[in-house]
Amino acid sequence: MGRYTGPACKRCRREGMKLFLKGARCTMAKCPIEVGRPAPGMHNQRRPRKMSDYGTQLRVKQRLRRQYGLREKQFRLFFARAAARKGVTGELLLQMLESRLDNIVYRLGLAPSRRAARQMVSHNHVLVNGRKANVPSMVLQAGAVVTVRDRERSREEARRNLELAQSREVPTWMTMDESAVRGEYSRIPTRDEIAPIVDEQLVVELYSK
Ligand code: SF4
Repeated sequence: MGRYTGPACKRCRREGMKLFLKGARCTMAKCPIEVGRPAPGMHNQRRPRKMSDYGTQLRVKQRLRRQYGLREKQFRLFFARAAARKGVTGELLLQMLESRLDNIVYRLGLAPSRRAARQMVSHNHVLVNGRKANVPSMVLQAGAVVTVRDRERSREEARRNLELAQSREVPTWMTMDESAVRGEYSRIPTRDEIAPIVDEQLVVELYSK
């Protein structure tokens, strides 16, 4: 199945929470979640039904997957890689998701959303440690330096996005030098710092069945 290209807000409405998929619009009062628009589909207008354990785990997994904009296959692959490592699988999964290049470009304020960050990366605007990097799913190591290509179009787009991202704080595990358009992924964050929107343990339970 291809990547979802439908309305982003529909995904938030389906999950009943803000997933911040659209950049500046997400902080405005007209965000459909702020307005209180219901989940899509006529059956969802009814009284909410009690969910089974499986249903709860599935919803939690979908929320996390959609927040980071991954397809099911890729999300499972990330999970498998986290499960193969030593440590707490749920936390490792979150750390790997946070270490993705598209997420880091978004977090640094170089793009207004993860979706836009993915496009920026695949359109060759981004450099990692001075080298071309056009794979959004690339997992960066702590200490990686993210910049944009030294050409007018790339710098202009990054500067415009940084301007728009003024209200968003750069996370404590990254640093951003806006004048030089140079960001650094200083260290891997802890689970508490990431503050996930869901209980990632439920994702582990779902995939461990
Ligand atoms: Fe749409 Fe953003 Fe609000 Fe989600 S958070 S419903 S993407 S405006």
